[in-house]
Amino acid sequence: MDTPPPLPAHVGVLVIGAGFGGLGTAIKLEERGERDFLVVERGPDVGGTWRDNTYPGAACDVPSQLYSFSFAPNPDWSSSFSPQPEIQAYIQRVAERSGVLDRFRFGVELEEATWDDAAQLWHVRTSAGSCTARVLVSAAGALSDPKLPDIDGIDSFAGPVFHSAQWNHDDDLTGKRVAVIGTGASAVQIGPEIADRVEHLDVYQRTAPWVMPRHDRPYTPLERLAFRRLPVLQKLYRTAIYWGRETFVPAFTVNPKLAAPARKAALKNIAIGIKDPELRRKVTPTFAMGCKRILISNDWYPTLAREDVDLVTDPISKITPSGIVTRDGVEREVDVLIVATGFHTTDLPIAERITGRDGVLLSDYFRAHGMQAYKGTTVAGFPNLFFVVGPNTGLGHSSMVFIIESQITYVMGALEAMRQRGIGALEPDPAAQQRWNDDIQRRMQRTVWSAGGCSSWYLDEHGRNVTLWPRTTFVFRWLLSRFDLDRYVVTPRREAAAPSVVPETVGSAQ
Ligand code: NAP
Repeated sequence: MDTPPPLPAHVGVLVIGAGFGGLGTAIKLEERGERDFLVVERGPDVGGTWRDNTYPGAACDVPSQLYSFSFAPNPDWSSSFSPQPEIQAYIQRVAERSGVLDRFRFGVELEEATWDDAAQLWHVRTSAGSCTARVLVSAAGALSDPKLPDIDGIDSFAGPVFHSAQWNHDDDLTGKRVAVIGTGASAVQIGPEIADRVEHLDVYQRTAPWVMPRHDRPYTPLERLAFRRLPVLQKLYRTAIYWGRETFVPAFTVNPKLAAPARKAALKNIAIGIKDPELRRKVTPTFAMGCKRILISNDWYPTLAREDVDLVTDPISKITPSGIVTRDGVEREVDVLIVATGFHTTDLPIAERITGRDGVLLSDYFRAHGMQAYKGTTVAGFPNLFFVVGPNTGLGHSSMVFIIESQITYVMGALEAMRQRGIGALEPDPAAQQRWNDDIQRRMQRTVWSAGGCSSWYLDEHGRNVTLWPRTTFVFRWLLSRFDLDRYVVTPRREAAAPSVVPETVGSAQ
């Protein structure tokens, strides 16, 4: 990666992350005539999770027509559920066409951001130097920091060990004995893809997931032509998919029994893919459908049924230099260890780097109050900080891009209010934030995520669901459609605020 150009001393809006959230924010800033912004991204390109997750078989399990910006439709999706390279190419294309890439700094990592109440700005230290920013937008993502399993002896393993989001493409695994730890959304895509070329595959399952059939199909050339020539047709199609997916919400949030037809389809998926009753028993989930993310695959069960694949359900007790030992004392030797064990979701690593008013670290605030925000976007005590994909904004049924666009609209409303009213700093009223989160947690109690009998990455260590949105996405959009300044504590802009002053405590450019 080329050395990024130095940061300016001051920037109006600093965006962290160049995935769907950061890119969408940059495009909308540009659209409203804002030139004074910068996007810093620790990776080498746009794309976020779609840039990083290059494992074999990576694809989206939300239909591409919906999993794309509303303002940048793509008539060329090859199939209903696009593979990762196509999604990444789409994000790159949108970025190039938008004309905002000159404001992106790749290979630049946020190290520390500290709010300065007197100057009404953020002092920011990055891997490429320091700057100040009037507003900070964290679009760092919720699935961006791999979570490695804390298994005794894992560091002693002699062969390659890598996380699904950090795939080692130097080794194509041909003829190797491979172990995959985990049976989540990533693992069920990896297993079928590598099973043909490895000598033997061991899949370590801690909890059997619900896996529905994947109703994927390629779009015909005629369909693609129609999407291109008649954009309104594509829009209607997208709208139909959107509403179709919204009908899933009551099964998650009101009555899990509504998932009965889906449960039947998932059980049939097992029956079709696996003949052995013992293996069928091992892969049959013991919790309510939807409690963990529902997976989709047509080849997961046939893969587990292969002669050269073993599903190991005995808990792992330790890892040795040559293999994995389970609690029954059996050691299975392997050459390569793939950990598909998910991400840091309820302990957002970026929160360790943001210090708000009165020197409060965001991660300490989250530890004390639970990971929470007002409308998933702003946090009391952290002025002029906005999250795009923040606490309780995740979805189990539809497109995060819809949520991202809703939050960006809200952020743009906040910036407009600041401009029009000469506001120097704003943060949500703690009481409004409390009410918002009390309402979310009250609604959570009857959801399948809380009452479905499973543990998942949706829940924090106290069992609180701090990641998902418990209502329909149109309600989310409606609630964020207007920036509600009356729910904010506002400080007028102090003209004396000196934007370019960087205090010594923040460190200097490297
Ligand atoms: P994940 O859903 O969190 O799954 C992690 C897996 O690793 C689970 O099976 C978990 O078991 C297991 N695990 C974790 N720690 C373990 C340990 N110490 N020992 C043994 N097993 C362990 O992670 P992911 O598959 O990477 O997916 C994360 C999220 O990314 C998804 O939920 C989805 O939102 C997104 N994603 C989407 C797609 C897609 O669109 N197709 C693809 C990939 C990822 P337990 O279940 O027992 O905890």
